[in-house]
Amino acid sequence: ATIRVSEKGQKSHINFNDIAGLKEAKVEVMEVVDFLKNPEKYTKLGAKIPKGVMLIGPPGTGKTLMAKALAGEAGVPFFSMSGSEFVEMFVGVGASRVRDLFKRAKEKAPSIIFIDEIDAVGRSRGKVNAFQANDERESTLNQLLTELDGFGPNTGVIVLAATNRPDILDRALLRPGRFDRHIYLELPNKQERIEIFGVHIRGLKLAKKVNIEELATLSPGFSGADIANICNEAALIAARKKKKAIEQEDFIEARERVVGGLERKSKIISPKE
Ligand code: ATP
Repeated sequence: ATIRVSEKGQKSHINFNDIAGLKEAKVEVMEVVDFLKNPEKYTKLGAKIPKGVMLIGPPGTGKTLMAKALAGEAGVPFFSMSGSEFVEMFVGVGASRVRDLFKRAKEKAPSIIFIDEIDAVGRSRGKVNAFQANDERESTLNQLLTELDGFGPNTGVIVLAATNRPDILDRALLRPGRFDRHIYLELPNKQERIEIFGVHIRGLKLAKKVNIEELATLSPGFSGADIANICNEAALIAARKKKKAIEQEDFIEARERVVGGLERKSKIISPKE
């Protein structure tokens, strides 16, 4: 995800109006909002409120956005870390940062902890040989499991995690009482792409003839992040041409650039996989 988020537990200003499409995921996230806002409704009947929710979907489909909107809608502080940060740290640092994060989130409960790219720390153990083993990653993962098990289900802290590689996750993370709720975010269909363009042109100055439907037709397979990118790139292109408003041709040119960027990126990324 592109948003660098706070470890200080700031309030999120993002809400469901910032998210287009993803209707089913929103319904499930709404339920989590209710767990945070009205816990007694559930605990009164003896229910245990889920502790961990896994957001699963391809890159750029709005997992980080959804987590921030959840915190925004519930009006609770948002604490976060990114799994990839820990892989290159000195031994012990990752685990202590995890401990610290949970401690602060509990002090501020009700609150949300968001762990982006959890697969970076939560990759299945045992599949690596000694040569590739990453002690820091393992100790971070172990600390995460300890923290998840260490707080009761009704403490008002809900931990969200995001991944686009659920297949490589350590099964221990998905056990009951840990990340046992899974919410899927899919790439948008054409109608949803129209709606996502709608969200991202809100702040832009557009020429009258801009046709979002055509843009959505021209971008099959694009994620919400790609569309956000196109909209901003189109504004930059129009500004560079000293236009007073952004025209359809600027969006088309922006789309070409985003496609070019994606192609370059996949060339760089694919040999590693
Ligand atoms: P990654 O897997 O790369 O971490 P992600 O799934 O966390 O990605 P986000 O970081 O949430 O994706 O999305 C990046 C940006 O794309 C968002 O900040 C937002 O601008 C835009 N975006 C993604 N999905 C949507 C959506 N459904 N509606 C509106 N905007 C979206």
